[in-house]
Amino acid sequence: CGIVGYIGQRNAQDVLISGLAKLEYRGYDSAGVAVCTDNGIQVRKKAGKLANLSTELEGTPLTGTLGIGHTRWATHGLPNDTNAHPHATEDGRLVIIHNGIIENYLQLKEALMSRGHTFLSETDSEVLAHLIEEKYAQLSGNLYEAVRQALGDVRGAYGIVVTHVDHREIVAARTVSPLVMGVGEGEMFLASDVPALLAYTRNMVFLHDGDMVVLNDDGYRVTDLQGNAVQRQVERIDWDA
Ligand code: GLU
Repeated sequence: CGIVGYIGQRNAQDVLISGLAKLEYRGYDSAGVAVCTDNGIQVRKKAGKLANLSTELEGTPLTGTLGIGHTRWATHGLPNDTNAHPHATEDGRLVIIHNGIIENYLQLKEALMSRGHTFLSETDSEVLAHLIEEKYAQLSGNLYEAVRQALGDVRGAYGIVVTHVDHREIVAARTVSPLVMGVGEGEMFLASDVPALLAYTRNMVFLHDGDMVVLNDDGYRVTDLQGNAVQRQVERIDWDA
């Protein structure tokens, strides 16, 4: 439902929580974040209001400058802690967040389980983590290409953000579900809507249907789902949320 992503020098947890709070009007039933820390990717997620998650994070903060966050509107699976996003692979090295619905998830899930993948949640979204993990291994560690090829197997609507412990980057893509990118200096942002980012930057790129993007500390590159480079205008937002 609500997505925020951050890579830069700030404390990622703060950017994620403040951004998700600005997306509260979209409604949600649980919230979660993943932050790349010195001890790998750490995931925290909680059913209920964003305040439940932020209270937990105040007690045991996550320290890191790259992270992704989500507020979920459940379509597949109960609104509980386990079904909340982000979803990680079994080794915890890759995490994904997904907005939307993967229509062919049951078929994908059965195939993945027959190849040895274990699922923790009831969501349609979790197939994305395992599918990307599998492609990533086949492609000897090309995260962008793994996400691109995994999306080729998927039918449905998605805004997806992905990160991996071995890459200082966030890979994202959208079909139907909205995604906007905030372009900072030495930092980059992603969100499902503009208000999440206005406190940090007013330079935004509205991703189009079928766009993929790779964000790192220095900038970004946009492609289509076939892997061709795409140019997108940076727009200056001069209104207030
Ligand atoms: N279909 C996914 C789920 O139920 C994503 C829901 C959303 O867009 O928040 O977990």
